Amino acid sequence: MSKKVRVLDVEGLQSLIGELRKRGYTVIGPTVRDGAIVQAQVTSVDDLPRGWGDEQDAAHYRLRERGDDAFFGFASGATSMKSILFPATELIWSGKRDETGAFTVDGATKPEPGPPYALLGVRGCDLKAIEIHDVVLTSRGFKDAHYASRRKGTFIVSATCGEPGGTCFCASLGTGPSPSSGYDLNLTELVGPKSHTFVVGVGSDKGQEVLDAIQAPVASSAEIEASDDVVRNAALTMGRELDTDGLKYLMYANAESPHWDDVAARCLACTNCTLVCPTCFCTSVEDVSDLTGTTASRHRVWDSCFSESFSYIHGGSVRESTRSRYRQWITHKLASWEDQFGMTGCVGCGRCITWCPAAIDITAEAAALRGASTARK
Ligand code: SF4
Ligand code: SF4
Repeated sequence: MSKKVRVLDVEGLQSLIGELRKRGYTVIGPTVRDGAIVQAQVTSVDDLPRGWGDEQDAAHYRLRERGDDAFFGFASGATSMKSILFPATELIWSGKRDETGAFTVDGATKPEPGPPYALLGVRGCDLKAIEIHDVVLTSRGFKDAHYASRRKGTFIVSATCGEPGGTCFCASLGTGPSPSSGYDLNLTELVGPKSHTFVVGVGSDKGQEVLDAIQAPVASSAEIEASDDVVRNAALTMGRELDTDGLKYLMYANAESPHWDDVAARCLACTNCTLVCPTCFCTSVEDVSDLTGTTASRHRVWDSCFSESFSYIHGGSVRESTRSRYRQWITHKLASWEDQFGMTGCVGCGRCITWCPAAIDITAEAAALRGASTARK
């Protein structure tokens, strides 16, 4: 069948989840947990955040009841697919000592090939973040075997963002509100008083094959038009914006700006911004042993350029002050990432703004360096 735009109703969405599970995928999608949207295993539409939206601003996140049945009516959640493909803790190896005193390392360094993941409801910004991690973690000299193993065979069902949050600025970076590539299927949800449907764009042969296995009629021109309206309206209602004109050079030119002292006076160096960021990938290793010294294991854990120990090398920390750590983080995101990986390190999801307890705003700090006030709507 041709790659025509199709349409699914709510039963069709359930069929899609069922078909993916039938094909052996573990479906991961948005769920509600502890008052936030987080990624977790989904076995039916009942696991999705039906009727939930969110309020987001600097240092502010609340779920709110939308008053309708939308499944994807929220902006970026508290976690991204980073928590699935590149989890916060990874066992690197473990070993034990036998009665003779000999220590044997188990073969845990090889990643276990698990069932392939189908990632459901991935926003354009988070899809771009996966693309960035593909470059950072698998395209260079040393491949991250654990990430590559989880990423292998991934099926991606993205979802157009219909209502951006107060801290979103994906439109400034061209990563949303609708993804342009990298998905197998893309859903644009249309919730009306009389109908509830998903206009489905096909991004790959694999996506087409799955869609052909379920009932998915060709979308009408009115439905396609309505889905285009969702994208247009979302692009016009971004909570933040980031002026990207000459941004890399702006960052480099301000390496010694007194503005870093101003940010440092507010920043708690808590690391929240790096932990929620879908593109941050810095890690450390932690060794654990039992009290008798019989077993030991090494774990890779997320780290952050905001922790003093992260830049510790033979005798001292390279970045001792919060000033230097914030400067390092934002300069890497918006400038040196481009030199290192050929793309920007920020996808405009806004999580670092929402989850910063000090309400520090990457768009406002970049605007302050430019000498402009923050554009807030
Ligand atoms: S910028 Fe905000 S979230 Fe990031 S380390 Fe500083 S206080 Fe924490
Ligand atoms: S820097 Fe902030 S806005 Fe950019 S991708 Fe990371 S969390 Fe999202």
